Amino acid sequence: MTTNSPVPHPDDADADRLTTLLEDAATGQASQAWSDLWTELYHNGSLDPADPLVLHTLADMAEADEADVAASALHLAGALLVQADQRYETRNLRHQNAPEVARLLDAANRWRQVTAGRNDYCCLIEAVLNLEGDIHWAEELIWGLVSEEYELECPDPAGCASMWVIIGERGFFSAAEDYALSDDVETFPLHPADPLTLEGLGRRLHDLALADGHDHVARALTYAFGEATCPECEQRFSVVGQVVARAG
Ligand SMILES: [Zn+2]
Repeated sequence: MTTNSPVPHPDDADADRLTTLLEDAATGQASQAWSDLWTELYHNGSLDPADPLVLHTLADMAEADEADVAASALHLAGALLVQADQRYETRNLRHQNAPEVARLLDAANRWRQVTAGRNDYCCLIEAVLNLEGDIHWAEELIWGLVSEEYELECPDPAGCASMWVIIGERGFFSAAEDYALSDDVETFPLHPADPLTLEGLGRRLHDLALADGHDHVARALTYAFGEATCPECEQRFSVVGQVVARAG
């Protein structure tokens, strides 16, 4: 089909739609544009995340001076990359956009060091992990830190009921699923990891949070990378191990 065609090519319509949404998202009051980008790029795939415009424009937004726009751009870019890794079981989208991914990661690490809000900080850590692409369960890990609870399964192969692991203002404990519905549900204290013996990702994220001045996040991470007790069989298990299991 030529550019003189009287009938718009569907790809042209998609390109126009994508350009408009990205331009709208880059401006201030743009929550509808971001919501539409999430729907059409991430949830239903009616727009193509592999369009070179996507990660290029998101990287531009992440490098600009607007913290909210940058955070939204980093969040979406990271999620799109992890989704593509999972869906196609290749890292083609990362490789084809390597310069943009590097720009996004640099921007995420810069914003991380100057972001004061606890939840904003946690979302930037999620973006860093998603942009690095070494794990696919950053969303599940970080969502528990933000919401201050994980809903997890016991690792016992016999299959206990699911449970809540609470990490935050309500305390640090595990409880049966219906703890919120009753005052007299038995709770089991969590066993945080010793920061000195943390290893791997837990060690790295804990030290990063301390260095960035987010002591509460660092403390929460010792619980996320520590152990909980199943309320049913009373076995201790790794919290992060079950976060990974739940992420599949
Ligand atoms: Zn159990």
